[in-house]
Amino acid sequence: MNHKLEGAIVTSETQPTIVIAGMGPVGMTAALSLALAGIPVTLLEAGADLSSESRASTFHPPSLEILDELGVADELIETGLKAPGFQYRGHNRELLAHLDMEALEGDTRFPFRIQNEQGNVTRIIRRHLEAMPHVTLRYNAPVERVEMGTDKAYVFLPGDGREPSYTADWVLAADGAGSKVRNSLGIAFEGVTYPERFLVASTTHDFLDDFDDLAYVSYIYDPDDWGVLLRTPKHWRVLFPIEEDETDAQALDPARVQQRLQGVIALDKPYDIAHSTIYKVHQRLAATFGQGRVLLAGDAAHINNPLGGMGMNSGIHDAHAAVQAIRYALDGGDPVRAVATYATVRRDAAAGDVQANTQKNYEEMRERDAAQRAGRKTEMADIAADPVRLRAYLRGSSMIASFEVSKRRMLRGLTPVRPAGQLPAGRRLSDLVREGAITGAALDSAASADASVAYLEPHHSQLLADPLHTVTAASAAPVILGLGIDLVDAAAVASETAALERSDVAAVEIADHGDADASVVAAAVSAAHTARRDILVLATVGPVDASGADTDPVAVAIERGTQYVAAGADLLGLVGIVDLDELQAIHQAVPQVPLVLLTPPDAELASLQELMLAGVRIVIEGARVPAAAALAH
Ligand SMILES: Cc1cc2nc3c(=O)[nH]c(=O)nc-3n(C[C@H](O)[C@H](O)[C@H](O)COP(=O)(O)OP(=O)(O)OC[C@H]3O[C@@H](n4cnc5c(N)ncnc54)[C@H](O)[C@@H]3O)c2cc1C
Repeated sequence: MNHKLEGAIVTSETQPTIVIAGMGPVGMTAALSLALAGIPVTLLEAGADLSSESRASTFHPPSLEILDELGVADELIETGLKAPGFQYRGHNRELLAHLDMEALEGDTRFPFRIQNEQGNVTRIIRRHLEAMPHVTLRYNAPVERVEMGTDKAYVFLPGDGREPSYTADWVLAADGAGSKVRNSLGIAFEGVTYPERFLVASTTHDFLDDFDDLAYVSYIYDPDDWGVLLRTPKHWRVLFPIEEDETDAQALDPARVQQRLQGVIALDKPYDIAHSTIYKVHQRLAATFGQGRVLLAGDAAHINNPLGGMGMNSGIHDAHAAVQAIRYALDGGDPVRAVATYATVRRDAAAGDVQANTQKNYEEMRERDAAQRAGRKTEMADIAADPVRLRAYLRGSSMIASFEVSKRRMLRGLTPVRPAGQLPAGRRLSDLVREGAITGAALDSAASADASVAYLEPHHSQLLADPLHTVTAASAAPVILGLGIDLVDAAAVASETAALERSDVAAVEIADHGDADASVVAAAVSAAHTARRDILVLATVGPVDASGADTDPVAVAIERGTQYVAAGADLLGLVGIVDLDELQAIHQAVPQVPLVLLTPPDAELASLQELMLAGVRIVIEGARVPAAAALAH
């Protein structure tokens, strides 16, 4: 059997089996993206039909771009409401700031939000999928569990008469917050459940009649009455918190819902209430977003409060990244790399961006401290009035910045940077170090000195501007690159380290010269590690006080070394300490990592054998001379 799919012939022998659990917005986006690439896909939905629950209603610009690439944004926009800005309001719904999204015109083709129901997007996508012969949509098909094979995943449905129901090359778990796929793989879903629940009430009353220039989305900052007021194509919707002492039944009592709506703005007649629902709110993150041949996406991987409208949107970004990872592997890329890249990039986005922002929104909207509230009010007005700050702010709240970072990281992660079979330089260096003590020399002389590792002085870090493989090509030895003293700033170190992605640099050195705050150095160490996991991070201590004041270099090396190792340092560098007993003391106190000696050229060193017993694994002779010389005086 042959399928002709968008120009690609996929034969039954070669065609992959891709199973997507869940037909929510995330599963449907991923399915359409795969199907448009000619890849057969099977969707399994527990329900008898697509969900029509009223949940997400805000589509941010990057989601519109993704849906546009799939040919479904026009219909979503036509059937939705364009929100060219949104508002922050305070007590008595006083306008605090209007954020005009025109400021994003240079950043996106869609400088606005679209207000539309998530149930509409799934239905729009379904019409496209139904017309594709290589797509199978199965309803009443709840995935019971998934089991892992070496290079397959087995999908089990109850009462299907087949064991397993599917042997899949890839499974995308988009089966929502209670994900059976995630649970059956034993992946923890860690986080918190908020004490409040949220009540969402929809009304046909038009709030535009009550407020001047009300935007389609307003976040209400009020310690006693915070919430969200937003428009969907059919209704106005209000989100209120429910305190712990009110039961669901009490909160849903029509008289109580009426009372709460009258609290938004008092009408001389009852509100017409279309529906009201209660949601529990959580901030949770799966321990990993990928395992074997299973990728977790959307609510199956992360859930957050709805303040900022980020849950579904980030799930759509997950879908985009998951399809990239799957296609990379189907095209012959390393599947382990595909899973690791997806899992790292998207988990970082969910934790660092979505969870952090939604939690911040939650805390700020209910802030009780009057001074904090006043400060926030001024800040919002200032941001709205300053085009540069407004653009930066909107890039964050619209998820443009996080999606750009995610796309860049996915691309980098899925682009093989070194010939197949060649170990990352960091691994090569760790293997070398495990075999015994080694010597290093400055990069220029490393080859002639027969050194096992080459060291690039911090002041050469401007060489970063050059393609680093040219630097490394000068020597067969792995390179340790000093990042320089002016880079002891976490963000700068992270970006410099990330810039090394394509190089074969084995380790970066972050030096503590005794004048930097140790916590700043620790943050830089941690940032370097996060930016590039296959690089080793060498944290170097000392000289502690070049003036020779009353400091004990060993005590300081132990104290700071402990802190840097806790922050993720793989190697602990020492400048100016060559005494075997002192080295031994440091090694005993910080035994987790090998020591690296950066020695002055004329230092009297013990034998490599003895140094190794004291925990030293790398000796770089002649490195960091000025600093070491300063200590010697
Ligand atoms: C009140 C509220 C307002 C929100 N507003 C916004 C917003 O404005 N913007 C935003 O971005 N997000 C918002 N969210 C969050 C958003 O609704 C979710 O993040 C989004 O639905 C996640 O999509 P999903 O496809 O991952 O999961 P879901 O939408 O939960 O879809 C999962 C699907 O999987 C099916 N399923 C479940 N178990 C199985 C199984 N075992 N086998 C097969 N199928 C299964 C389900 O029936 C469902 O169809 C809001 C949430 C709430 C509660």
